[in-house]
Amino acid sequence: MHTLTSPRYLKNLLARHGFQFSKSLGQNFLIDENILKKIIRGAKLSPGDIVLEIGPGVGTLTTALADLAAKVIAVEIDNSLKPILEETLEGLDNVEVIYEDILRLNLDELIQGRLFNRPFKVIANLPYYITTPIIMRFLEKGCSYVSLTVMIQKEVAARMTARPGSKEYGALSVVVQYYTLPRVICKVPASVFIPPPKVDSTVITLEKRSKPAVDVDNPAHFFQVTKAVFAQRRKTLPNTLIAAHITDLDKAALNEKLISLGIDPRRRGETLTLEELASISNHI
Ligand code: SAM
Repeated sequence: MHTLTSPRYLKNLLARHGFQFSKSLGQNFLIDENILKKIIRGAKLSPGDIVLEIGPGVGTLTTALADLAAKVIAVEIDNSLKPILEETLEGLDNVEVIYEDILRLNLDELIQGRLFNRPFKVIANLPYYITTPIIMRFLEKGCSYVSLTVMIQKEVAARMTARPGSKEYGALSVVVQYYTLPRVICKVPASVFIPPPKVDSTVITLEKRSKPAVDVDNPAHFFQVTKAVFAQRRKTLPNTLIAAHITDLDKAALNEKLISLGIDPRRRGETLTLEELASISNHI
């Protein structure tokens, strides 16, 4: 048994170091060996891999990652975890911890310097309010990440993997699916953490596509169209596009154009596939 997932061992470790949990840093530490294994399996690690772990906590995942990968760079904001991590990671010479806020860290410097500009896999279990911004940073950067395996609120995972027409389908689904292939790894009940958070989670892996899911002439315009379509869910498609100043065409011309693209103008935006959104973005 992995000792750090033993509640008794963990509580004792934290007490010995006089550690105080910070709610605002989302400090909920994993105590379930099974979930740990699923996260690792989901990330499909191989011995040559370089891993960027964000939010190692007491090092529960970190120690398991160090066993399987060539190198682990962990970024932890909380300096008070330093003495604990020094104890739990002792002797693991392929692990390096950077004590910084991932949101303030210069990712380019990190990628070029510590990650040697080589492909790397990201693994993160972070406070929910920063997980989506962090994911977006990697996706939009187009850097050499291979995959992102993250624990997120289950509702957010449902949005990332949603299909057109479902109530969860939105701009986030389109952006995530444009850049990556999202795959749900497992559901995670709140009871597998100390202390238990208020919500249940899902572990999801976003595997970077070798090229975006659809061909768009101008990605910024494609995302602008996407945003407009989902911001005005109750309007019909032509009204949405006109209201968002996406087009100079009047309604009649726009209707005709949509029909020529094989899109019924009476469709609601939230039923449009990535291909259809790309087609609108490229031709309107
Ligand atoms: N990975 C550990 C586990 O599964 O038990 C800890 C997960 S805990 C939910 C989140 C961790 O992220 C905490 O250790 C917290 O201090 C750290 N963290 C929070 N905000 C951070 C930030 N902006 N940059 C880096 N680490 C952060």
